[in-house]
Amino acid sequence: MIADTGADSTTIGIGILTYNREGYLKTLIEALLTQETEESFPVVILDNGSLKPLDSSIRRLLDGLAGPVTVLRESGNALSAMRFVGLIEAVDADFVLLPGDDDLPLPNYVSTSLKLARKSPAVTLISGGMGQIDAQGRRLATTNAAPVLEGAPIALGTLLRSASYNMPATGFRKSAIDVKCAPRTRTAFDWWLWIQCWLKGSAAVTHDETILYRQHIGQEQRRYGAQAFRNDAGRMLIDFVTSDAFQVVVKSWSPWELDQFVDTVLASDGPNSGDSRWGPMVQMVLVDRLAGSAQDKQLASLFAQASGHAGTPATLGAIRALAPELELHCLPVETWSRIPVSMEWQGDCALLSSWRRYLNVSKTPTPQFGVVFACACQGNPQALHRVTSTGERFDSGEGFCLTFESEPGEAETSRLLDSIGRLTGRLHGFETHVNDEAVVLAAYRRLRLSRPGVVLEKAYRWRGRRA
Ligand SMILES: [Zn+2]
Repeated sequence: MIADTGADSTTIGIGILTYNREGYLKTLIEALLTQETEESFPVVILDNGSLKPLDSSIRRLLDGLAGPVTVLRESGNALSAMRFVGLIEAVDADFVLLPGDDDLPLPNYVSTSLKLARKSPAVTLISGGMGQIDAQGRRLATTNAAPVLEGAPIALGTLLRSASYNMPATGFRKSAIDVKCAPRTRTAFDWWLWIQCWLKGSAAVTHDETILYRQHIGQEQRRYGAQAFRNDAGRMLIDFVTSDAFQVVVKSWSPWELDQFVDTVLASDGPNSGDSRWGPMVQMVLVDRLAGSAQDKQLASLFAQASGHAGTPATLGAIRALAPELELHCLPVETWSRIPVSMEWQGDCALLSSWRRYLNVSKTPTPQFGVVFACACQGNPQALHRVTSTGERFDSGEGFCLTFESEPGEAETSRLLDSIGRLTGRLHGFETHVNDEAVVLAAYRRLRLSRPGVVLEKAYRWRGRRA
């Protein structure tokens, strides 16, 4: 039991950003008038430059609310995330809920939120279930449950992947965030809020539905493309993993908690919704930030996975440069976990086996390209060994054919992994048909094969041996 810490006086307030939706806004305010709670709560409405100021009938409805009501109006319309800053600052309460102006709170919206907010002083995020309605208010079958994330390591690992919580059903403790530091796009904005909450405390969630979300195309989508959202989320996530607040939290974790965090990241399809450009970049930065805290094995796995995801699978030499004290004889199995490749080994001999051991490929459920390995010896131990590796994409037939007469060393494996990466990259990594990225990747490969590149790789290996 939590002792009486005075948390019972914890308050919640509601901030509503509205734009040209008087009909829906009225329905929302009516729902706030019929809340099953004895307690009053503040409501702030920020008119995001609607064509005409709020109607007097809305003002009259608002007069019926027991708590203080503030109505603000901006003369022009702006992206909602920019307006949220002023809106949140204007809500005078410990917790803030930000329902959409077309959403419909259920009668328990406030009472359930209060109950969650008062569970413990450590609670910084509250979230309930979210039902859905259509434009006419008809109930849709879908319900979005609040995610149950046990503890900050799993929660922050999960939040690297996606925003996870449903904004209309979720509230946050105002003192846990510095809203002036918030990103300025709608998607990254609420995502950022949930991360901040988990950096400072924990969540209280319920399966009970607390609000109905209205399903129709909103104004933001018209103005902002999916790629722009992903770019902004990528910036926000890099900002998160490089922040001092994250570093403080990581340092406070036990080795077991750090394991939990790393395992959560490794098990996902990648940061930033699995996006193969920003995702690996976020994870690479994370590797640097975890150095000194996480074990070398964890760093190697995160790095190998991110490299493969980006379409440039890392060789053992590259991984040893990162974690020189780690005993590594084959690639971390995570190298392959985001690469849709299947590998086939025809025949068996010492050379094929050493390649097979080195690559350490796990099974992929839905491969999109395959690599077949065979040796010229055809199993005859006296014959000449020459391994042929043939890669082919199942959709386009695009591929490569390489031969190796020796054990997998740095030079040989980087040739193979680059070829695999090139096929991967075109599938789901860097979009090499986009000029800039093709140029960057080509430059990267040239560096690897150039004199300075060879010297660098030698230096890495030397560092590895020395350690
Ligand atoms: Zn052979």
